[in-house]
Amino acid sequence: MQIDGHTRLAFLLGYPVGHSRSPAMQQAAFRATDLNAVYLPWAVSPAHLRGAVSGLRAMENLLGANVTVPHKEAVVPLLDRLTPDAEAAGAVNTIVPREGALVGDNTDGAGFLIALQDELAVEAADLHVVILGAGGAARAVAMSLARAGACALILANRTRERAERLAREVTSRVPGCRVSVERLHPRWRADASPETGVLVNTTSVGLRPTDPPLFDYESLASPLLVYDLIYHPPETPLVRAAARQGCRAVNGLGMLLHQGAFAFERWTGRPAPLAAMREALRG
Ligand code: NDP
Repeated sequence: MQIDGHTRLAFLLGYPVGHSRSPAMQQAAFRATDLNAVYLPWAVSPAHLRGAVSGLRAMENLLGANVTVPHKEAVVPLLDRLTPDAEAAGAVNTIVPREGALVGDNTDGAGFLIALQDELAVEAADLHVVILGAGGAARAVAMSLARAGACALILANRTRERAERLAREVTSRVPGCRVSVERLHPRWRADASPETGVLVNTTSVGLRPTDPPLFDYESLASPLLVYDLIYHPPETPLVRAAARQGCRAVNGLGMLLHQGAFAFERWTGRPAPLAAMREALRG
């Protein structure tokens, strides 16, 4: 990689950032497209987020930025405007500089929908989906499914009130989508709603191999498809349990790839080099 006076800069703002695969993936994309740019992890504590965004404004050679935990929602009021996707998600994972302004976008939902099509061969339209969790990722997934025509969502979360809040937001934006709420607990069963086509885990349970089961995994049965947003370890506890029960199940690496590809396209206006990005993620 050659750095010179024309090099453009891209950043990942998060806290911590050490675990992230985005630097490897985006740098591989810049390399594959011969772009004179670098992508740097930037560990920003919550107390310094405002200062970091001011720093981005001062950078005339800024290509763009990604935003990750815990800043996706906190960054919203610091930006000049939001895209409809970021507005719907109430969170930003991508910042795009446009004519002196910083525009907040959210590519998580679009990335999730592409991964769903690619890896589980399902379209959102008319789908019945169970979403486990009601945090930031659940919000992006729920909004993107509802806006893409999913007909029913069940939001199951440990803290029921949080799921109720999300359900109200989804129905106010997409009144045609039926949304119901359940409390998620270790004896919760996935087979209570037989019309469900896909179960999506958006909780952080499974990040550690010692995490106890999120629900009664023995209630999983084919033809239910399972999408786990967690991608490390690659065979998450839920993916392993679902495969044992005969369900098709995939981890969240595809979503990570496609949200990153959309971010690359927003920053550069070029098609993302998916093969190089996928290869970097596998590495
Ligand atoms: P949040 O902190 O906003 O939400 C966490 C969710 O997990 C909440 O619903 C919380 O429930 C639930 N939860 C946490 N601990 C437990 C537990 N012990 N039992 C049951 N539920 C629990 O996080 P995000 O939504 O931002 O991220 C969630 C996950 O999604 C992370 O693992 C992240 O890595 C992954 N992710 C993956 C992406 C990808 O590209 N593949 C993109 C974005 C996120 P409660 O409300 O009760 O606290």
